[in-house]
This record gives sequence, structure tokens and C-alpha cells, in this order.
Amino acid sequence: MTQTLLLLPGDGIGPEVIEQAVRVAEKVAPDLALEEGLIGGISYDQLGTPLSDETLEKAKASSAVLLGAVGGPKWSDVARDKRPEAGLLNIRKGLDTYANLRPALCFSALADASALKRELVEGLDIMIVRELVGGVYFGQPKGIETLPDGTRRGFDNAEYTTPEIHRITRVAFDIAKGRGNYDRKWGGVCSVEKSNVMDSGLLWKEEVQAIYDAELKDMGVPLHHMLADACAMQLVREPKGFDVILADNLFGDILSDEASMLTGSIGMLPSASLSDAGKPGLYEPVHGSAPDIAGQGKANPFAAILSLEMALRWSLGRIEAADEVTRAVSTALEKGARTGDLGGDFTTAQMGDAVLAE
Ligand code: ATP
Ligand code: MG
Repeated sequence: MTQTLLLLPGDGIGPEVIEQAVRVAEKVAPDLALEEGLIGGISYDQLGTPLSDETLEKAKASSAVLLGAVGGPKWSDVARDKRPEAGLLNIRKGLDTYANLRPALCFSALADASALKRELVEGLDIMIVRELVGGVYFGQPKGIETLPDGTRRGFDNAEYTTPEIHRITRVAFDIAKGRGNYDRKWGGVCSVEKSNVMDSGLLWKEEVQAIYDAELKDMGVPLHHMLADACAMQLVREPKGFDVILADNLFGDILSDEASMLTGSIGMLPSASLSDAGKPGLYEPVHGSAPDIAGQGKANPFAAILSLEMALRWSLGRIEAADEVTRAVSTALEKGARTGDLGGDFTTAQMGDAVLAE
């Protein structure tokens, strides 16, 4: 059966970086059927909604979705549920992409990061697996209320259920198995929570351990537990000791941003959001629509190209093509391909050229 990749370029630099990813896709996977759809502000402008039923149905019917970015100052006055960002939340919800994969991979060519004016961790290669559709971001009740004495009170509810914890744990173990880095200090899966002060965190720890004992032990992948604050500390102190970090929505959000900054520019960071096996995954750069540089040909397309790489690997089963893309990006960097965010002056298209040349 033909595999289809749905392209949702979106707003700002989204279309510019997706254009380069498409050139790479056409090269390494010429038989892949490419379709296009609307999401975000451009969808709101044309259809009055940031995510139409048509786009969501197309996404559900595809093998994988490659998204650029959504949003921008043009839509800042639009009602919250019609804002471009709502399109992103709704497509994640619609595809039930509960597992967010954020690699923190430092390309050796960037390790001398004097142009970035900060230190990177040469050789770092870890993966954060973040639960994406549950936890304190979605728990009910939540709200802001004013008490009779005028005091305002804001509240959110942190909650997890056993099925939510079990399914994200299975994803983390599958990934750790494929990576095979068991010799690291916290190699295999390191599950993080705050079981010392949170009941939902205690449940997280107990249920990760329970599904491991019942179902995953035979995979031979080590399991570690760590408190989330200790993990934040160790990520800075000894980052190469980790392999796969399994975290809930909140801690995964923070720890993945922390880890990513050890590896380079925001213009380099891809992400994947996966549902159950066989269902389409959603792939997108970590960066946003970057209105300040949109339309100027300055955006680094490597986060988008590496998001394509993740789609090839995780949804399309094209491991060799994925490896080829990683290698080409790495070589292009070694040969000096650099956009402004990496301290160079390459245009977006020249970055694409550099990857294609390899
Ligand atoms: P969002 O609200 O969607 O996260 P944002 O306005 O916070 O968007 P980002 O796009 O996340 O902005 O990035 C912040 C800044 O980093 C941008 O303003 C831009 O200067 C820079 N940046 C982001 N992505 C890239 C990229 N691909 N190439 C070069 N610079 C980038
Ligand atoms: Mg941002």
C-alpha cells in the first residue's frame, strides 16, 4: 500500500522549513505520496477555524503528518478556541498522540559552540519520552476563582490513570530497546516523578514498576526511578548518564527543554508525537513560527528535516532512509552549513541544498 505523508506547513517560517524537508523526502523516499493541508492561522483565514474536519480526517487517513508551525501576531486578538495554537492542540487530541518524543542529540560539528555563546555537551544522545495528553495540564477541575474576601485562587488537578501510565511506559521501553544503551549509569528507561510529595506521582512510580514486572521485564531493558528534581540536576551534572527519560506531561515539558539546550539551537530540534502502533504520528520542529524572521529565508530548516527523519523512522518504517538523513545533516554541519541561529549566514534553501548534496 502507498504510504502518505500529510504536510501541514502552517504559518510564519513553517512553510519555509517544510519546503526544505519536502525536497529531502522526495530524494530519500521518492515513492512516498505527499499531500497538503491547512492548519493554524492560514486555516483560520481561509476557513474560519484553525483545524477543519477535512484536515483532521486527512491526518487520520495518512501514514504520518509533518507539521511546520502555527501562530503569529496577526491572530493575537482571535478568540482562544479559534487561535492557531488551538489547531495544534486539537490535532494532537484528534490523533490521540499521547507519546511525545524529544531527542536531545548533539551533532559533533556543533560541539564547539562559540557562535552560540554557550557550552554544549559533545556526544550527547538521549531521548525524552513525555506523556502528552494527560496530567496536570488537562486534569479537572481547574480554574481561577475569587473568594468572598477578595483573595484570588488558581488551581489545577494533577491526575493519571493506570492505562495512561501503562501505554506511555510501553512506548518508552520499545524505544530504549531499539537504542540498546544499557551500559550508561541510568541506561534503559529512567522514569521520573515526584512520588515523595504527589499521590499522582506515587501512582506513576508504582504503575511503571507494575507494568514492567508484569509485561516488560523480559525485554532486558533496565528500569530506573528518579525524582524529577534530582533528574533536572543530573541532566546538567552528568547528562550522558541517561538514555531514555520517561516523564509525565509537566516534568517532560521542562526536562525536554532543559536537555535540548545542551545540544544546540532551537532551529535544530525535532519532535515526534505518537499514538498506538499503526496510527499516524505527528512530527514537528520544536520551534514556533518565529514571526521575527519569517519570510526572510533565514530560518534553519534542520529541525523540520530531522522531524521528517523521525517520521521515516517511527511511522514509515524506513530506517535506512532515516539514517541517511541523519548522516547527511551531520555531514552538512561538518562542512560548515550554518544559518544565523548557528552563527552563520546560510539561507534556508542553502541549508536544504547542503543536505541534498550529501
Ligand atoms: P511559539 O509561541 O510558537 O513557540 P515563538 O514566538 O516563541 O513561537 P519560536 O519560533 O519558538 O518563537 O522561537 C523563538 C525565536 O528563536 C524566534 O523568534 C527566532 O528568532 C528563533 N528561531 C526559532 N526557530 C528558528 C529556526 N528554525 N531558525 C532560526 N531561528 C529560529
Ligand atoms: Mg515559544
